[in-house]
Amino acid sequence: MSKDKAFVTEITPQGEDFSRWYIDVIKKADLMDYSPVRGCIVFKPDGYEIWEHIKEELDRRFKETGHRNAYFPLFIPESFFQKEKEHVEGFNPELPWVTEAGGEKLEERLAIRPTSETMIGHMYSKWIQSYRDLPVLINQWANVVRWEKRTMPFLRTSEFLWQEGHTAHETEEEARQETMQMLDIYTEFVENILAIPVIKGQKTPSEKFAGAVDTYSIEAMMKDGRAVQAGTSHYMGTNFSKAFEIQYLNRENTLEFAHTTSWGVSTRLIGSLIMVHGDDRGLALPPKVAPTQVIMVPIGPPKTWDAVVERTDELYRELRAAGVRVRVDDNKDARPGWKFNEYEMRGVPVRLEIGPRDMENGVCVLVSRITGEKKIIQQSDLVQEVQDMLEQVHQEMFARAKQFREDHFYDVDTLDQMKESMEEKRGFTLAGWCGSEACEDTVKQETGATSRNIPFQAAQHKTHCLVCKEQAKHTVLFAKAY
Ligand code: AMP
Repeated sequence: MSKDKAFVTEITPQGEDFSRWYIDVIKKADLMDYSPVRGCIVFKPDGYEIWEHIKEELDRRFKETGHRNAYFPLFIPESFFQKEKEHVEGFNPELPWVTEAGGEKLEERLAIRPTSETMIGHMYSKWIQSYRDLPVLINQWANVVRWEKRTMPFLRTSEFLWQEGHTAHETEEEARQETMQMLDIYTEFVENILAIPVIKGQKTPSEKFAGAVDTYSIEAMMKDGRAVQAGTSHYMGTNFSKAFEIQYLNRENTLEFAHTTSWGVSTRLIGSLIMVHGDDRGLALPPKVAPTQVIMVPIGPPKTWDAVVERTDELYRELRAAGVRVRVDDNKDARPGWKFNEYEMRGVPVRLEIGPRDMENGVCVLVSRITGEKKIIQQSDLVQEVQDMLEQVHQEMFARAKQFREDHFYDVDTLDQMKESMEEKRGFTLAGWCGSEACEDTVKQETGATSRNIPFQAAQHKTHCLVCKEQAKHTVLFAKAY
């Protein structure tokens, strides 16, 4: 990276160059830094704290549905990868290998985990003997490595942070229920906590997880019309149980293979929320994961400064006690106008201003990052008013993202129309698909769009494949994707 890009002074407008805008914003808001290792980023405190809030929210949901956390090793013996054919083919190109350790060449190479189905499958085969041992409902918070060719901070990195849930069940029905339950949890979380509307659906066979029977995803639209796969949930059938011998004695005392699932979301969610909500002024963070939810800016001449700061501190303590993540900027040397811009750029959802006259009148001013609306409130109602405004900001962000998605949602019958919708209009496009990989490939070659998923609730049902014109098997969501 060139030196002049290391310190961003101006944010490139979104309309001029969206990718540049993204990089400018995350650098200027101090969320991350590049590391000397290709494709690996450093999460700086404000970037990492967003992940911490994502973790807290998800972890609670996982535990409420009976899952527990565990931790498995980072290194996976090469022989484990040979056991499931599709899995090894899918992941081999992206695996980094440890061949030497402690100054000696290893007898067997160790992969750095790209995902843990193999290691966990091996362990489950030891732990699961009888139907009484089932279900096993385990989640792991960890880092994984996939040596990606193309990288983009947060969205696609070579090392990333994630959670991976791995469960084993007696029956297909139960495992499928689990797969759907987790997809629903991801949907609820992404919509209600990150304020990002998503489209739930099933991946086409060419896009499914290596080794899965069925893969389901939630897809979100970024402000440049591209898609991000925000989360996935896989039904593995008995593929991994057969490869790793996860067998149990059933209620009739005969040996059976367990049905397994896995599901994950990653630090890609941070990139997604930035690209969905940010604007030309900078970041706009969803209140529920914002490291700072409220920034307090005392205002006034030197004469009243100390008194205003003192009152600000009292209000600060009240908000803190109510669980609001609040900070005060009482730096005398910076002008209020500069501070307003700075915290807007950093995406702080609510600003609180208080000056000497406000103090006398027992009021203060709340300003929404997203609408710019100013509200004069009674200091005695502070906590409630702040909580209400945080909720309003969340609702407004979700409504805007949904409106944007609706405004960039198309529906086509031919490849030419698809090209037009990808090149000129940019967005999500529904089209009929016959089910053949060749037609899916043609769409990719001709338009740059890939099939995102087969939405559960397709707005329209298409009758013909947009490429070969044969009868459509599915109505598919296509988009250019990150
Ligand atoms: P998968 O195991 O491929 O189903 O991926 C699980 C989750 O990790 C999905 O939400 C993916 O979108 C996300 N993910 C996959 N590859 C990357 C990457 N290189 N960087 C960040 N997130 C990723």
